[in-house]
Amino acid sequence: MQVYKVGGAVRDRLLGLPVTDIDRVVVGATTEEMLAQGFRPVGADFPVFLHPKTGEEYALARTERKSGRGYGGFTFYASPEVTLEEDLIRRDLTINAMAEDDQLNLTDPYHGQRDLEARILRHVSPAFAEDPLRVLRVARFAARYAGLGFTVADETMDLMRQLSESGELQALTAERSWKEISRALMEDHPQVFIQVLRDCGALKELMPEVDALFGVPQPETHHPEIDTGLHALSVLEQSSLHKQPLTVRWACLLHDLGKGLTPEEEWPRHIAHEHTGLKLIKAVNERFKVPKDCQELALLVGQYHTHGHRALELKASTLLELLQSFDIYRRPQRFEEFIAACEMDARGRKGLEQRSYPQADYLRGAAKAAREVAVQPLLEQGFKGPELGEALKRERLKALKAYKEAATA
Ligand code: ATP
Ligand code: MG
Repeated sequence: MQVYKVGGAVRDRLLGLPVTDIDRVVVGATTEEMLAQGFRPVGADFPVFLHPKTGEEYALARTERKSGRGYGGFTFYASPEVTLEEDLIRRDLTINAMAEDDQLNLTDPYHGQRDLEARILRHVSPAFAEDPLRVLRVARFAARYAGLGFTVADETMDLMRQLSESGELQALTAERSWKEISRALMEDHPQVFIQVLRDCGALKELMPEVDALFGVPQPETHHPEIDTGLHALSVLEQSSLHKQPLTVRWACLLHDLGKGLTPEEEWPRHIAHEHTGLKLIKAVNERFKVPKDCQELALLVGQYHTHGHRALELKASTLLELLQSFDIYRRPQRFEEFIAACEMDARGRKGLEQRSYPQADYLRGAAKAAREVAVQPLLEQGFKGPELGEALKRERLKALKAYKEAATA
């Protein structure tokens, strides 16, 4: 049997990037031979094994054929006769369809190295269209390598467009889609992921609520970029520039969904978009079975981001309601993430990327003031149950009034 490194490990080594996860393909072996050598089988779907010592992945060379809708609709064929070239042709992009042996001899039948040099993401064969997930994968690679100058080949965009129009994207499971989306959002240029999906018509299929933001105007005074979709992309870009976690990036993408529902007569104003957007945010969250922390933050940011921007003008009682809504006493981190998302929203505007955001420290100070109200004296005064809750609220309100006066004096 022969073993080759394939996929990302070869691609990233040739790009001079650090290689983290190594995939290997084994040619000329049977499952029985692998097991006899101590490899542990994984993956119900394909003949993939873990090395007994290193734990790295070894897959038997295989061919694939589409046999139905969605990803379940694949049959594969693995046997010692399947050649390296046959295995490589089923892969998504030419830059992912190279293999190298221990001596770093490159096998590159589909000219991945040429495309690496030309900075092009190009599909390997028309079989690309057999798995709609590849639309998301290409967009994700575009987001990852945009900084190196990579773009998607025209003919690959054409295929992605056909796949989007065919309705096949609807057959993707929530889990597979979210895995790509969440990884893409954590790349260096997550806005490129959304842009590529939009350009090929996939955004309209996957997240019509986000797609609907493009072409919707906002008031130029606050939003020199005017277009709501472009604003969403800029906010996402800021979230990456500021190394925000996934929760914040997800909230950034969805924070303004309500603006897509504003009747045209009301443009460019978007009254109460914070509220109208909530059901859309909920729908997107549920569609992709998004993790709970991401779901929650997106909803809270959607509902309260304008409160964040007006923090210094908020009455003490409104400020208190905001802090209570975030349960800052038990969830301090979540409030920090809210503040971060608001700041990204403020900076994700054309020409305002470097602006200061005094609201952030003001909100932090308010949270601190509310948290510092001690329970013990109230207990000593005999408060308990709901009355204790009320007394605590009164004291926190007092503290916030004092804070507001001192901070804005
Ligand atoms: P990463 O750096 O994100 O791990 P990768 O290219 O190694 O990138 P993997 O998801 O680890 O991506 O997959 C390994 C290889 O398997 C890819 O390079 C590609 O050749 C192939 N591959 C994975 N998923 C698909 C798919 N859905 N369709 C076609 N080929 C795929
Ligand atoms: Mg990999």
